[in-house]
This record gives sequence, C-alpha cells and structure tokens, in this order.
Amino acid sequence: MTEPRPAPAIAVVVPCYNEQAALPHTSARLIQLVDELVAAGLAASGSAIYFVDDGSRDRTWNVIAEIAARNPRCHGIKLSRNCGHQNALLSGLLTVPGDALISIDADLQDDVAAMKQMVAAYRAGAEIVYGVRSGRQSDSRFKRLTAEGYYRFAAAMGVRLVANHADYRLLSRRAVETLKEFKERNLFLRGLIPQLGFNSAIVYYERHERVAGESKYPLGRMLAFAFDGITSFSAVPLKLITLLGSLVAAGSFFIALWALWVRTFNAAAVPGWASTVVPLYFLGGIQLLSTGIIGQYLAKTYIETKARPRFTIDETI
Ligand code: UDP
Ligand code: MG
Repeated sequence: MTEPRPAPAIAVVVPCYNEQAALPHTSARLIQLVDELVAAGLAASGSAIYFVDDGSRDRTWNVIAEIAARNPRCHGIKLSRNCGHQNALLSGLLTVPGDALISIDADLQDDVAAMKQMVAAYRAGAEIVYGVRSGRQSDSRFKRLTAEGYYRFAAAMGVRLVANHADYRLLSRRAVETLKEFKERNLFLRGLIPQLGFNSAIVYYERHERVAGESKYPLGRMLAFAFDGITSFSAVPLKLITLLGSLVAAGSFFIALWALWVRTFNAAAVPGWASTVVPLYFLGGIQLLSTGIIGQYLAKTYIETKARPRFTIDETI
C-alpha cells in the first residue's frame, strides 16, 4: 500500500443558468459538505466553491454575489453571455485553482455526499473519479429507455462513454492540465474525459429530483446534445452511409435485371408506376439523410476552423 495523497484543496464548480430558485439550497448544502470535509482533515482549508453564471436572465448573478459576500469559501464567475452548460463548466475547470476539481449541477439532483467517496478515491490515486447513477428510478420510462438505447448506440459507433455518468465528476489538477490541451469547440465532456486516460475510479450515487426550478434541457436540446456526442467522437456514421449507398446500388442492379426479365418474357406486363415511384422516394430519402449527416460533420469542421473562444468571462468575485 502506498501512502494516500495529502488532503487536496478542493474546488467545486457549479454551472448555473437561471437557477435563482435552486441556488440558496445548493449553496447551503455545498458549504456544509466542504466545511465537513475540511473539518475532518479530508480537504485542505483553502477549499472553495465556484458558481459559474452562464448568462442567466433571472437574478442568478445577484444571488451568487450575495452568497459570495456572506461566505468566504464561495466565489462567482460571470460569463458574458449564455455559452451553454458544457462551456460554462469548462470555463470554471480551466480557470479556478485547486488540486481536485469537482463539477456538479446547480439543482442538487446529484448526491452531494458522494463527494466524500470521490475525494477518498482521489487520495487513493485516481486522477478522474466518475459519479455514476446507481439507478434511474427518478427518470420517466421514456428517458430510461432512450438513455439505455443511446449508450448502446454510442458504443456501437465506437464512442467511449461511462454509462449513467453525466457531469458529476472529480478531476485532479493533472487531468485538468491535460484537458487544457483539448481545444475543440464542439464540447462533449463526458466523451472527452475518458479519452484523457489516467487512473480512474467510479463512485455510485442516487439521483434525485431537481430541488427547485425546471430543467434547461428540453427534448430538442437533449437530442441535439446526444447527436453531438456521437459526431464529435466517431466517423462511423459516415462509413455507414457509404455502406448503405453500396448496398442500395447493388440492390438496384438486381432490380434492373428483374425489370428487364419481366419486360422481355412477360408480354402482359402493366407499365407500373409503383416500381418507379417507390425507389424514387426511397432513394430520395436516403440521399437527403446522407447529405444531412455529411453536412453535420462539415458544419463541425466549419465551427472548429473559426476557433472562436469557447467562453468569455465578464466578471469574477
Ligand atoms: N446549465 C448551464 N447553461 C445552460 C443550460 C444549463 O449552465 O445553457 C446548467 C444548469 O443550471 C444546471 C446544469 O447545467 O446546473 C444542468 O442542467 P439541467 O439540470 O437543467 O439539466 P437536466 O438535469 O434536466 O438534464
Ligand atoms: Mg438537472
């Protein structure tokens, strides 16, 4: 057994978009937990909590400022506009100090208490600790089924994801420094982090309902995010449409042979429109789908080449 690492300075990073209702609860829970860790000698006394205001349109920033004024452990980072969950998270991870950075959502859906095990895993040598939901009881049937299907689909496409892990995780300073080298704009952290490699660990926890406010991921946004997760890490869809194209081409060759045979040997053949119209729609559909998929990759390349900043910090407290 090697000696455990010294108690780290923890930095909790919390992305917040219109979370004025949840923040008072969340900050209270987080402060209590970090205080406990420090008191127990598991975290260094300089441990802190950083709330990132992702261009909220409600009073989120004022609430953060009030919390920061009352508690020296709490700080705020205000982005200049809404940059999206992933970028808000990144802005915190890349700019705050600390030995072990823990990211968690602002709605207390993820069990704060799991941080204790995360820190223990870090001290035992893990550079990355994934928070994984032990069950999906708090989800609707629909969400459960689609999530399951998604993890399977992603795996088939060659995307390495940790199943049932969202953005609740601990990253060591070393992991964060490595993350800095990944300059991509199309950010899907839960696909990116496993690519860092390093010694990692998993901590299981129960996921609860949102403490207040409502989800910022309606169905459309969730689908776009899921799609991004695949196309940011895998070129398999491009290969699949090439394969589909070849199959359809080979199929139509045999249909042509069959048509010729009917034409030659069956005098009563009705000049059918079905055999004309069906492939027309079918091929049209396949072509549009394929062009769309290629277009998505092209759009990503376009966004990456512009290399615009992923977030802009307006103010910190
Ligand atoms: N969030 C953000 N920027 C956005 C959307 C969401 O920082 O543009 C934050 C939000 O405040 C929350 C976290 O991302 O802390 C996850 O969002 P939410 O809880 O709404 O997602 P869900 O849990 O419903 O998937
Ligand atoms: Mg949530």
